[in-house]
Amino acid sequence: MNDEALPYESILESGIRGLTATAVADGTPDDLNTLVQEATELAENLLTSLRHLNPPERPAACREGCAHCCRFQVTVTPPEALTLADYVRRHEPEAAVTALAETCRALAAAERGLDAAGRVRLKRACVFLKNECCTVYEVRPFACRGANATDDTQCARALDGEDINLSLYLHQANVMKAAARGLNHADDKAAGQLELTAATAIALSDETAADQWLEGAPVFAEARLPAQQFPGR
Ligand code: SF4
Ligand code: SF4
Repeated sequence: MNDEALPYESILESGIRGLTATAVADGTPDDLNTLVQEATELAENLLTSLRHLNPPERPAACREGCAHCCRFQVTVTPPEALTLADYVRRHEPEAAVTALAETCRALAAAERGLDAAGRVRLKRACVFLKNECCTVYEVRPFACRGANATDDTQCARALDGEDINLSLYLHQANVMKAAARGLNHADDKAAGQLELTAATAIALSDETAADQWLEGAPVFAEARLPAQQFPGR
């Protein structure tokens, strides 16, 4: 639990943590999809309520085709990475899945060892970005759901390496971070603060990754980020 979390964040995080513990204890890979779906609904519903109670001062500048933030480092939890891989397998032909796994491995190798600033300097788009649109929007990670800058030129400047505090609706970022913490299973062996590309490479390259992770195997060890980088963008 994050000691600095506001009450609503703590309640959301605790609720999702309970769902995660149940899914991991009793689960199958399909249960992980359900877990991520339920966590997403809880987080989005809470965000809708917060928007009514405390409306944003300025609307988000986010729109289709705006994707500077899809070149930043993105963190994911194991359930999110496994759900993404399952989504890709269900929506793409086998050859496309194989090609995407190879693309992920290549980008993950380029990203390895980079911190968030180094990842920005790489200026490489997320593997799921096509024509400046997210191809996995339905199941995008919580880190992506939290992105909501009110000025896209700030995002562009951040991508150019400027040290800038983005103007945003903080509740959205906080809710999605709390949801991600809830999905981050407490068992050290299975827990993860994972980099999106590396985690996706692992989940796509091995069809048994979900079963192994549910059994407690450290399948995502190579994708792990230092704890202070989680959850982040
Ligand atoms: S966070 Fe910034 S770059 Fe990303 S969609 Fe929103 S305005 Fe565009
Ligand atoms: S998963 Fe989608 S929204 Fe997130 S960084 Fe990749 S392309 Fe962008």
